[in-house]
Amino acid sequence: MAKKYLIETFGCQMNVHDSERMAGLLEQAGYEPTDDERDADLVVINTCSVRERAEDQLYTRLGELRVLGEETGHRPIVAVAGCVAQQEGAALLGRTNGHVIDAVVGTQRLKMLPVVVEKGARAPFAEVDVAPWDDVSFPLGVARRGDPVKAYVTVSEGCNDYCAFCVVPYTRGRERMRPKADVLADVREAVDSGRREIQLLGQIVNDYRAPDDPACDFAGLLAAVHEVAGVERIRFASPHPRHTGARLIEAIRDLPKVCKHMHLPVQSGSTRVLQAMRRRHTREQYLELVAQIRDAIPNVALSTDMIVGFPGERVQDFEQTLTLIEAVQYHSIFSFKYSVRPNTLASKRMPDEVSEAEKTSRIVALQSRQREIQTRLHQRAVGSTVPVLVDSVSRRRDGEMSGRTTGNTVVNFVPPGDTGSPAPGSGSRWIGQTVPVTIRRAGPNSLWGEMAGVDRAKTGRSAPEAPGDTHAD
Ligand code: SF4
Repeated sequence: MAKKYLIETFGCQMNVHDSERMAGLLEQAGYEPTDDERDADLVVINTCSVRERAEDQLYTRLGELRVLGEETGHRPIVAVAGCVAQQEGAALLGRTNGHVIDAVVGTQRLKMLPVVVEKGARAPFAEVDVAPWDDVSFPLGVARRGDPVKAYVTVSEGCNDYCAFCVVPYTRGRERMRPKADVLADVREAVDSGRREIQLLGQIVNDYRAPDDPACDFAGLLAAVHEVAGVERIRFASPHPRHTGARLIEAIRDLPKVCKHMHLPVQSGSTRVLQAMRRRHTREQYLELVAQIRDAIPNVALSTDMIVGFPGERVQDFEQTLTLIEAVQYHSIFSFKYSVRPNTLASKRMPDEVSEAEKTSRIVALQSRQREIQTRLHQRAVGSTVPVLVDSVSRRRDGEMSGRTTGNTVVNFVPPGDTGSPAPGSGSRWIGQTVPVTIRRAGPNSLWGEMAGVDRAKTGRSAPEAPGDTHAD
């Protein structure tokens, strides 16, 4: 009987895609997937160490597996992959605080997972060697893509920027580019397997330069992906402000399949803090860039990452963060309290001096202000009809579907023909289609509407009272 595997993923889209690749490798090696940890012969925990809290999740999960083993006698092989694996290496192995880990595989050794697991089953084994210029090729078609609509495609890995707070250059290694031919082959494979939206991934995705086509930068890559028949939408994450030039802005404006959304990490609204963070952009440069983008693409939706409580952040600095989000009017932000990360410049040279209580108070204020901004922006969409790429059945309201606008806003809607009390999941035939939805209500996190042309009386449905709570990002 085939052995069964379960992969648990924490962290970013890059990790999600790595898990898809690891799943494919394990299936090639004869494993079968399972969702039940009591049934799994192998549990792979794909970890994130970007925030302290994310790292803690590994230890929580290991504790749960230990309890499961004590209660049931079931003891799967446990492998740790991802950024914590790369960061801690062989130190994770063995029995530490009761947590059992059999195998560790680093971010740049994922291709070896089946071998590492086999060795780990015999005796604790770690494979985390860093080869700075290791190629980023991966066997085409191996990934077991988990999403029926969108496909992640890696274009580069690693980062050379060494922002003071960030662990990524230490866990993902130096920046390496994937050949354009491989990227396009991956895109074609994703489209052939039914995916409609391509999400290009790289730590600084817009620093892309094709190793096999020296004239091709990231704007050129977008144009090449745009040419692939069957691609309906293109997104990318994450661009860096300092690599966002006129060519890229024009590409987003001029290529219809490229979504009119940019995630543009800023991290702070204070130039003083940005300099301490070694971000290589000032508040003024960032706002100038936002003005250029909005000038070229008036309806573009912007999102960002923000850290509060970075060492040395004064109240005045934080207030500049608040004025920045008002100035930019982001559609969403990912905000975090600063936490010390191993090896980083900040961990070595900057005392973590903003108190936890102050960090909490700042993040609450930031998120509250952002919620007001998002609500206002979403309210403006009420009454309009927007194309929505349907990606799932709503988990909150039977018979409703969920998808995203080109600006990446979640829209829950009633599909046509679902009158009375539709069966859960009855609208799943719409998944993968782009449909027009007339927006009826707006909340801070999402919109709610009806497919255009559908008589509301016939649907028998009314808008929920709090659409913002139906499907948060
Ligand atoms: S640009 Fe800065 S924040 Fe982004 S991955 Fe590189 S070091 Fe980290």
